[in-house]
Amino acid sequence: MAQEDKQQKRSRVWKRYAVILLLLLVLIPSSFSVILMFQMAGLRSAVKELQSEVRMWKSGSNQEAFVETVRIGEDVEIFEDEATADIIALENKLIWDDIEQNAQDWNSDSGIRRVYLTFDDGPSSNTDKILDILNEYGVKATFFVCGNERYMEEYQRIADEGHTLGMHSYSHKFREIYQSTEAFLDDMNRLHDYLYEVTGVDSKIVRFPGGSSNTICEKDVMQDLIAYLSQEGMPYFDWNVSSGDAASSYISAERIAKNVLDNVWKYDSVIILMHDASNKDTTVEALPMIIEKILESEDTVLLPITEDTSPIQHVQAN
Ligand SMILES: [Zn+2]
Repeated sequence: MAQEDKQQKRSRVWKRYAVILLLLLVLIPSSFSVILMFQMAGLRSAVKELQSEVRMWKSGSNQEAFVETVRIGEDVEIFEDEATADIIALENKLIWDDIEQNAQDWNSDSGIRRVYLTFDDGPSSNTDKILDILNEYGVKATFFVCGNERYMEEYQRIADEGHTLGMHSYSHKFREIYQSTEAFLDDMNRLHDYLYEVTGVDSKIVRFPGGSSNTICEKDVMQDLIAYLSQEGMPYFDWNVSSGDAASSYISAERIAKNVLDNVWKYDSVIILMHDASNKDTTVEALPMIIEKILESEDTVLLPITEDTSPIQHVQAN
C-alpha cells in the first residue's frame, strides 16, 4: 500500500513537471512573438509617418523650394560651401564649353573686358542697399526684376539711377510660367506692362527664370519662346559667371566674392549672376569686394546690359 502511494505520488509529480514544461514551451515563444508584433506595429507607423512627410514635401508648400533646387545654374547649390564651390566651378566650365563656339561674337572688340553685374528676382528689401553701393562706386548694373507691388519705389529708383530694368517674369512660378508658350508670354507681358505703368520704361531685355537652360521648361516651348523674343527684338541674357548666391543654405560673402573673382578674368565679356532678394544679405555684403577688385583692373569696365549688348545664351535658337 505504501509502495503504491509512493508510486502514485511520483507519477503526480512528473505529471506536474510535464505540465509546467509544456506551459513554458508554449508561453516563452508566444510572449516573444507578442513583443515582436508590438515592435513591428511601431516600425510600421514610423514608416507611414516618413512616407507622409515625403508626400508633403513633394506636393505641399515645399514644392516651390524643390523646384528651386533643381534649377540649373541658379540653384544647384544645396550642399555645403566646399561642395558648392566645386559645383560652381564645374558649372562655369560647362557653361563656357557650351558657348565657346560663339565666343567670336562677343570677344571681337577692343581688348577691354566688359563685365555686367546682374541681379535677379528683385526688387526686395535689399534693393536700396544694392543701389546705394552701386551709387557709391559709380557703377551701373542690370536688374532682372519680378512683379512685386510692395517695392514700387525701387523700380523707379533702378530706372532713375541709370541701371537697366530687365524682365525676369511677373510671378517667378516655374511650374506655371513654363507650362506653355502662352502661359510664359502672358506672364511676361503682364510684367512688361506693369514696369511701363510704374516707371515708363519699355523694357526689352529678358532673363528666363532658371536661365534658358532650366530643366523645367520643355525644349520645344523654350524654342518657341526664343523664336518669339527674337522676332520681337527682345534679347535674352544668361550668364557665364555664377556668384552661387542662390544657395538655399547659408553662403558667406567671402565665398560669393571668391566664386565671382575666381572666374571673372577668364572671359572678355562677363555676365555675372547674382540675386536681389530679402534673404540674400551676404550678396549685398560681397558686392563692394567684387566691385573694388574688378575696378582695380585697368582693362576692365563695368557696364549695364542694353539691347545692343552681345548676349550670353545657354540655349540657342534651332
Ligand atoms: Zn530667378
